Amino acid sequence: MTRGAYPATLSLDMKISFAAIVLALLALLTGCSTPAPEARIQVAASIFPLADITRNVGKEMADVYVLIPPGASPHTFEPSPREFKKFVNVRVFVTVGAGFEFWAEKLIKAAASESLLVVRTSQGVQMIPDVAHAHRETRLSSVGRQEGNPHIWLDPTIAKKITHQIAVALAEVDSGHAHFYMKNANEYMSLIDSLHAEVKKAVSNFGIKEYVAFHPAWSYFARTYGLNEVGIIEESPGRQPTPKQLKRIVEDIGKFEIKAVFSEPQLSAKAAMAIAEEANVRVLMLDPLGGEGIPGRDSYLNLMRYNLNVMRQAME
Ligand SMILES: [Zn+2]
Repeated sequence: MTRGAYPATLSLDMKISFAAIVLALLALLTGCSTPAPEARIQVAASIFPLADITRNVGKEMADVYVLIPPGASPHTFEPSPREFKKFVNVRVFVTVGAGFEFWAEKLIKAAASESLLVVRTSQGVQMIPDVAHAHRETRLSSVGRQEGNPHIWLDPTIAKKITHQIAVALAEVDSGHAHFYMKNANEYMSLIDSLHAEVKKAVSNFGIKEYVAFHPAWSYFARTYGLNEVGIIEESPGRQPTPKQLKRIVEDIGKFEIKAVFSEPQLSAKAAMAIAEEANVRVLMLDPLGGEGIPGRDSYLNLMRYNLNVMRQAME
């Protein structure tokens, strides 16, 4: 062994031990900021707005995915075998409830997990009766009827209650972080408060309070902010309006001096376009769902501001 070789070996040992320390430190650090996947609560939400609210409450402690893909309508959704497979690991399932997720019972049954917590966010909400929002009769018959208009999340005052409910559910499943979930929920609820104030102020300046919507998605919004839904183009998804209904909507557009009819990205705009042409008004798009990666509609708060701006164009 030469004199020169000895220090070289030593420095290699030192390098190894240094690397070990760095690795240990890294493990410690990442352990603090991002918990291991198995430590996070696995959450499924039926629709994007509920998923986004849950992410804001659960932050790094929750893995949240949306069941209904962007662009699909929750009114006609059917879970695929892939969704059944994925659902097996779900610990908390955030839903609207009240029959909205008419396809969900099958998933819940298939998961057959006693530890699955199903959050029905419409619980305790004063529901608006649903006239004809009956979805597809054949599918409904197996799971029972919808117990009211399901579009509760489009009213920020209800979204606030939903946020609290989700925090309670996460705290129930992971009581060690109960304080964390409540703190996050409170922060998020104050953001909803700002949104609510913004919407209230904007809507109070609307010169036109009447509107024609594609389907009854904005009834809760209208109830809270004093708007008046005078026409619904498709009372239930896929059911085209009768000539008589069309005629009445066109008349109402004239009577209330409505400047635009609203369509939605998840449903065919054909009927809305026909009415707009007949009444000589514009078609504007309201989006009740939004989705990941959709610019300007990629969070619940952004989505609501997007919709407010669209309404402004038609009603201010
Ligand atoms: Zn709907």
